[in-house]
Amino acid sequence: MRILLVEDEADLASSIQTVLQRQGHVVDHCPGGLEGWNLLSAELARYELAIFDWMLPDLSGLELCRRARAAGLGLPLLLLTARSDTADRVEGLDAGADDYLSKPLAMEELLARIRALQRRHPSYREPLLEAGCYCLDYATGQLLVTTASGQVSVELSAKEQQLMGYFLEHPSQIIPGSRLRNQLWDLHQDPVSNVVAAQVRLLRRKLASYDLASPIETVPSKGYRFDPQAGLQP
Ligand code: CA
Repeated sequence: MRILLVEDEADLASSIQTVLQRQGHVVDHCPGGLEGWNLLSAELARYELAIFDWMLPDLSGLELCRRARAAGLGLPLLLLTARSDTADRVEGLDAGADDYLSKPLAMEELLARIRALQRRHPSYREPLLEAGCYCLDYATGQLLVTTASGQVSVELSAKEQQLMGYFLEHPSQIIPGSRLRNQLWDLHQDPVSNVVAAQVRLLRRKLASYDLASPIETVPSKGYRFDPQAGLQP
């Protein structure tokens, strides 16, 4: 992954850089917010993830998040800060950050958060994901379903894309609800216990609204199974 790191503490920046590079990432570092913004906005699709320190000498990390979102950038944003109270956390997330990490940093945690963001972010996947008569286009957020009478294009929400993407990657397998929950939801942010069942229901309803058969079968007390050929059923 190509990562932008905007952090004014030289020692911390250099250790983050070392750790990320060891994981095979390419890291561009700059110490100032303005410089970071220039790098980010110069070529909008260059970075796949950005890490911003909150307190920077010129533009704050918060402002960087706001600007990135205002410019329509969808890459995952991770905010680093010594602030840790809830109001600040909410402010960071409201500004468009995907996650928030308090200093002092534990490098293992930083890596784990980055992996989680990678897993959860649609833009990290292959742009087109296909299984049977289903094809998910991450660029447009549409699911293309080949039916007996032609192709139907279904508009999916971000969460529906993640769920459908997981099914497409695991066709015909029984997937426990707990695994879907662990892979696609942040236990911290989504404490509701039936979140998976609720989302599956929404996805089925969405497909039904396009007159499509549901490809997701509930396997009692085991989980869910995606049938990649269900679109062809009458
Ligand atoms: Ca700082």
